[in-house]
Amino acid sequence: MTANAPITQDVMTLPRKFSREGRINIVGMTREQLRDALVEMGTPERQAKMRVGQIWQWVYQWGVRDFAEMTNLAKGYRADLDAAFVIEIPELVSRQVSEDGTRKYLVRIAGGHEVEVVYIPEEGRGTLCVSSQVGCTLTCSFCHTGTQKLVRNLTAGEIVGQIMMARDDLGEWPKPGEPKDETRLLSNIVLMGMGEPLYNFENVRDAMKIAMDGEGISLSRRRITLSTSGVVPEIARTAREIGCLLAVSFHATTDEVRDKLVPINKRWNIETLLDALREYPKASNSERITFEYVMLNGVNDSDEDARRLVKLIEGIPAKINLIPFNEWPGAPYKRSSNNRIRAFADIIYKAGYASPIRTPRGEDIMAACGQLKSASERARKSRRQIEAESGLS
Ligand code: SAH
Ligand code: SF4
Repeated sequence: MTANAPITQDVMTLPRKFSREGRINIVGMTREQLRDALVEMGTPERQAKMRVGQIWQWVYQWGVRDFAEMTNLAKGYRADLDAAFVIEIPELVSRQVSEDGTRKYLVRIAGGHEVEVVYIPEEGRGTLCVSSQVGCTLTCSFCHTGTQKLVRNLTAGEIVGQIMMARDDLGEWPKPGEPKDETRLLSNIVLMGMGEPLYNFENVRDAMKIAMDGEGISLSRRRITLSTSGVVPEIARTAREIGCLLAVSFHATTDEVRDKLVPINKRWNIETLLDALREYPKASNSERITFEYVMLNGVNDSDEDARRLVKLIEGIPAKINLIPFNEWPGAPYKRSSNNRIRAFADIIYKAGYASPIRTPRGEDIMAACGQLKSASERARKSRRQIEAESGLS
């Protein structure tokens, strides 16, 4: 992809897969759920665990969608599987490719809902930004997704299915028996798409367990980052039950400002959030927490804010990721100037923290952080409502 390549958009309307009444989708089932279902289908108890491992490898490592191709299983058994189960992932509706190579996918899930998924290629790695909900119940005033009314939790299969869909599109399924390619196009996952992952805890957990499993997608837990706006009670649970890296949408240094930007702060304020974050690295055995901080002109970007931030996070192993605000139609904020962002970053850096400024990716196709909102989802809040909730009007 050259820098000047045109933006492409190909709309694919794939035929809906026919699935016989009652067949269960195995994508997203936990090991235990699949094991139990196999036993129910008649698999002898003592074989069931091994069969789960075999099926998982076909599905998650080699991308096979047809039981007939699972050649290390007996023919009759493959037919039994086909009668009882399907292997289905969300349907790809459209794909846009940005000038910078970022890909934004629109995928359709059961019920006709749509979510967006973003693939960001980088030097030597590639990150998939995965959605956990259709829309978001929270209403952060700077976030496009927060203006979308319709919300539904994605199932574990719909979450892990986004990874499989991206690997389909990238053509990245190795063949059985071939050595594993160590440099993967899709090497990292961030739960930073649409939705608040900790308000859909079980499904996110089950999907990430498949992503981390050696017989599943097989990504290290250090290559998976879950971003939360600060659902405090679920943070300790994330450490215990998922153990991936954690990012937190911090965005402000006083409760007064954070209440307006990230309204969940009214429920769990900065102090309560920091207490939970202090425990996370120990509990999850991860190195440090990423503090995300969106740079909003004149709102949260002063030198004083930077100094307060450094003080607040004292003692927490942290990296501060500064995100230049990405605009969207009707957004009530402006991006801080480059000089302001650099000055802010400098104060944090001098206090001993890494303070990278995130380069917006895929802005031309509205794929950058906080710009996601399924285009087909017409129900949207009015500009007045957005401004009222931001406390600006
Ligand atoms: N709901 C989760 C994860 C999704 S948002 C959360 O809030 O953490 C991913 C990141 O993008 C969050 O840090 C979010 O605050 C940030 N973000 C949202 N809207 C943005 C915008 N318009 N510009 C820049 N960053 C934004
Ligand atoms: Fe939801 Fe995160 Fe957007 Fe807030 S920033 S509205 S929590 S998706």
